[in-house]
Amino acid sequence: MAKRDRTSTRDQAVTDPTDQYPRPPFQRQPQPAPGLALNMVPKPDHGETSYVGHGRLKGRKALITGADSGIGRAVAIAFAREGASLMLNYLPEEEEDAREVLELAKDAGVDVHALPGDLTDETFCTRLVDQAHEKLGGLDLVINVAGKQTWQESIRDITSEQFDATFKTNVYAMFWICRQALTYLPAGGAIVNTASIQSYDPSAILADYASTKAAIVAFTKALAQQVAKDGIRVNAVAPGPIWTPLQPSGGQPQEKVEHFGANAPMGRPGQPVEVAPAYVFLASPEASFVTAEVYGVTGGHSAS
Ligand code: NAD
Ligand code: MG
Repeated sequence: MAKRDRTSTRDQAVTDPTDQYPRPPFQRQPQPAPGLALNMVPKPDHGETSYVGHGRLKGRKALITGADSGIGRAVAIAFAREGASLMLNYLPEEEEDAREVLELAKDAGVDVHALPGDLTDETFCTRLVDQAHEKLGGLDLVINVAGKQTWQESIRDITSEQFDATFKTNVYAMFWICRQALTYLPAGGAIVNTASIQSYDPSAILADYASTKAAIVAFTKALAQQVAKDGIRVNAVAPGPIWTPLQPSGGQPQEKVEHFGANAPMGRPGQPVEVAPAYVFLASPEASFVTAEVYGVTGGHSAS
């Protein structure tokens, strides 16, 4: 692929955000979890052709989970174009999505590594952080994006296995990764976790998932206060609703996928590319006095 100019400063047109991206209705599109972005209609916009970097993370070394698709992929593309070297994690069955991200990140001219694996395994989480530090020759940024969401009409339908897997993926993995990363993060390092609109405004059908997202907010604020004296910042992004494979692969019933985003004040779901700039800001030195914050990206449905 030819190298493209990602540092242009030409004027941008003033665009109405309400019709900048697709609006519902969408077609039903069930797929098994973890879903693949390449099977979605319309395909989510992760910034592949649009994100322009400005060197805001030049020389930084970042670990990003959930990096193959959705918000994590948009963050990986943005961070690469902002100049950060990357260690990317995703599940082995997502290799097809991941290959596209790896190519796009390499196209940005940065050092990119991948370590696929299951974050519900504590030993793997520790190894992932160690490998990121070793392969990148340091570790400055930890971006926890991976997540699991499975809707159930009734609490009686939430099995202990589902409850456990959701908490392991969303809460335990973040805890294991942060704990290990603090062995390496220097003063000036930053962690960005991924909360949700569900942290504050939980849906009846997402009792387990919404609880994990509330836990992520509390963990982020507590850890931020603990490590502020060490010069390490900890923040979270709280998005939703965003057009990603998490939703049609069991995250929502198909009738909700059809109208996904209709309830947001902007009348549409956000695209992953619209969430990535929040991560860039929170990771960048421009956010030097921002810690213990939760940054909503919700199209107006902010509940924090
Ligand atoms: P996504 O499906 O594209 O990304 C989720 C990723 O999590 C997957 O790509 C997968 O790599 C990773 N993952 C899941 N289980 C894993 C495991 N056991 N081990 C390793 N990786 C695993 O969907 P997304 O919506 O971009 O989700 C990213 C984050 O955004 C999640 O934390 C999600 O809860 C959060 N979020 C999404 C929305 C939304 O509306 N889509 C809203 C709020 C928060
Ligand atoms: Mg994926």
